[in-house]
Amino acid sequence: MSGIEASGIRKMFELVSSMEDPINLSIGQPDFDAPPEVKEAAIRAIRDGRNKYTVTQGLPELNERILARLAARDGRRPESSILTAGVSGGLTLAFLVLLEAGDEVLLPDPGFVLYRHLARVAGASPVFYDLYPDFRIDVAKIEAALTPRTKVLLVNTPNNPTGAVVSEEESRALVDLAERRGLFLVADEIYEAFVYDAPFRSVGAFSDRVLLLGGFSKTYGVPGWRLGWAAGPHAVVDAMRTLQQFTFVCAPSIAQHAALAALDLDVRPWIEAYRRKRDLVVEGLRGAYRLVEPGGSFYAFPELPPGVAESDFVARALERRLLLVPGSAFSARATHFRISFAAPDEELRRGLGVLRSLAGERPPSRTGGRGLDSRPGGGKMRAEGSAPGAPGVLR
Ligand code: PMP
Repeated sequence: MSGIEASGIRKMFELVSSMEDPINLSIGQPDFDAPPEVKEAAIRAIRDGRNKYTVTQGLPELNERILARLAARDGRRPESSILTAGVSGGLTLAFLVLLEAGDEVLLPDPGFVLYRHLARVAGASPVFYDLYPDFRIDVAKIEAALTPRTKVLLVNTPNNPTGAVVSEEESRALVDLAERRGLFLVADEIYEAFVYDAPFRSVGAFSDRVLLLGGFSKTYGVPGWRLGWAAGPHAVVDAMRTLQQFTFVCAPSIAQHAALAALDLDVRPWIEAYRRKRDLVVEGLRGAYRLVEPGGSFYAFPELPPGVAESDFVARALERRLLLVPGSAFSARATHFRISFAAPDEELRRGLGVLRSLAGERPPSRTGGRGLDSRPGGGKMRAEGSAPGAPGVLR
């Protein structure tokens, strides 16, 4: 544990409880409450006495529903699945089962904070593949990071913190690489429902040698219920079940019963609302920050204004009661920051207003950087050929 620091995101979470009227764009949970049907199903489960352990693997009918959905989505049915205590629980079991001392696991940078720490807990070494500057998958970069000890390649799509969604072509390339180099793929797909521009395409559509992780926290507004799933080859899922017997025992029973009701719901109305929030963010930051437009999740990962140090930027945001997460919480680089748009529209608008005013401020002269106030109102895309370092909004 001496090598593991407390989460930078949780620190923001704690800070917010001591602030008056904060604009909180720091936290990764939906701003909507659980749908009434799901809450009722949970209450009914309690009343009906479903308060005992479930079998380790989770309710058979829920596993069956999950496998059927994955089969319909990917055109391939995973061999087996297990209900886990959130995707965090699934990742914990998966890392402990798949990795041992001396192994290396390839993780995205920037990437979700949990992975690298879990890798260490499993005795393995995290090795990072770089996603900058456009947050696309570059198989050549991943391949360059491989060593004979690399065992697992983790992909997170849609990505936290960048919002990038892995394309079908990238998924195929990842599967091809994994097959060529004998890697096992782990796909964290917790934000699967939050895609805004194109249908979600999973690596699970192209290979059976993958473990697919998904969850209920984000999609149904129940992060406190701690429910996720893992689906993949028998050998891996069976090992995870054995470890679950001696750790989590089972995923929360009430949440499992409510999940059966959740899976009947049409999630499109609230995903549509999140698409509008995404558009609000992209419009709100246009011309003020360089931003790769997030195609999914509920995060945006803009670049810091040139010449502005991360800690200064975060401190100046805090002075205006705006909470965000510094990019270095997710990355070896301190060049970006994460905002979560899982917030009420009014709070989001206020936050974007603060960000626009921060972009317009000249950094302290000691940094030697140039201010952004003379920037042209962007909209140009780097993908269209403007040079790195040029102002504009990346889409
Ligand atoms: N993966 C990613 C990428 C996440 O952002 C999160 C939550 N922030 C999780 C996994 C864990 O989610 P949970 O344990 O609530 O299912």
